[in-house]
Amino acid sequence: MSISRNPTRSVQIGHLAIGSAHPIVVQSMCATRTQDVHATVAQANDLAAAGAGIVRIAVDNRNDAAALAAIRQNTETTLAVDLQENYRMAELVAPHVEKIRYNPGHLFHHEKQKSWQDKVRYLVDTASKNDCAMRVGVNCGSVDPDKRALYPADDAVSPMVESALEHCDFLDSLSFTRYCVSLKDSNPNRVIDANRRFAGQRPDIPLHLGVTEAGLPPEGIIKTRIAFEQLIGAGIGDTVRVSLTLANDRKADEVRAGHEILHDIYNGRVRSVVRFEPDTLNVISCPSCSRVENEAFVDLAQRVKQMTRYAEAYAITIAVMGCRVNGPGETDDADLGLWCGPKYVNLKRGGEKLGAFTYDEILPRLKRELDDLVDLRSSAPECIVRKKTGA
Ligand code: SF4
Repeated sequence: MSISRNPTRSVQIGHLAIGSAHPIVVQSMCATRTQDVHATVAQANDLAAAGAGIVRIAVDNRNDAAALAAIRQNTETTLAVDLQENYRMAELVAPHVEKIRYNPGHLFHHEKQKSWQDKVRYLVDTASKNDCAMRVGVNCGSVDPDKRALYPADDAVSPMVESALEHCDFLDSLSFTRYCVSLKDSNPNRVIDANRRFAGQRPDIPLHLGVTEAGLPPEGIIKTRIAFEQLIGAGIGDTVRVSLTLANDRKADEVRAGHEILHDIYNGRVRSVVRFEPDTLNVISCPSCSRVENEAFVDLAQRVKQMTRYAEAYAITIAVMGCRVNGPGETDDADLGLWCGPKYVNLKRGGEKLGAFTYDEILPRLKRELDDLVDLRSSAPECIVRKKTGA
């Protein structure tokens, strides 16, 4: 099948480039502890061997940054780093990677007296000095609060698109063009809407596609496939990541899934003219990364999926996240949210925190809450049984 891609500009990332003049690049992310240099190098090489053109690594502190320097010495893989709230980490990581990603929604926590424009100026300066590309990575769970405040609570897409466009305009005003954009959500429909709207306004900017927290395979692959078919089939998307909850020794499966989806799309084997309307139980989980503090997380996600099957007929969303850094925010839109610490799993129902439970206690506690939600939905009139209440 011949696909006419949006005329996105070329962005050089180390030895490779993304943009419409280049094949779509599949990328992935290490889930090993960054300070375990040996394991992280091995996983980066595994991911690259499976076909990942770019491998992302999480760096949260100075020790991680020091480990990154050692990782760089031991792998030829093209590396990227996610900056979290502490944007100043950029100067420690940029010398060792080919791309840095910042999230516009994370530029409000540190140095509150400084404008986001000043922070982005610093990031551009740091990237330029270190020959790095950048990604403006907008995420549904952490959208710029000023943008979110402009729209009704049920409009998750407009704030994301507006935030991305605003940052592109600002980067352009600095004459920095070596960047791509991502707009991610755990709902493939929103990923499709957000990327279409963005691409409609800025067809020149390369897009990194992904459905965040897609969850366990095979459902996680199906959600991602739905979004990629709709977008890539319409010429939108220059690099992709399939985010799956997988044990470390199977992490390369997400790279293989990415290549398989692309291969199928380009061969006309598409299967999603339908929109993704989850009117049944929806268990989402993050793909894990070095921030996971207890490896029991992947097992927990699988047990949650099995234990909750009995509620399959109810439109309830359960989110299982691997860490305390992003877990609280990323579970905001779920009916029941779990995020993992070293010894305890935190649980919330809608916006209400219910407490922290041991890995042995959490499933029975979760079941109690789920039973209660099922009862509520069962006793509700038919017209609202399938409606997510967020309660
Ligand atoms: S929720 Fe935490 S552990 Fe999971 S991918 Fe995001 S940062 Fe990593």
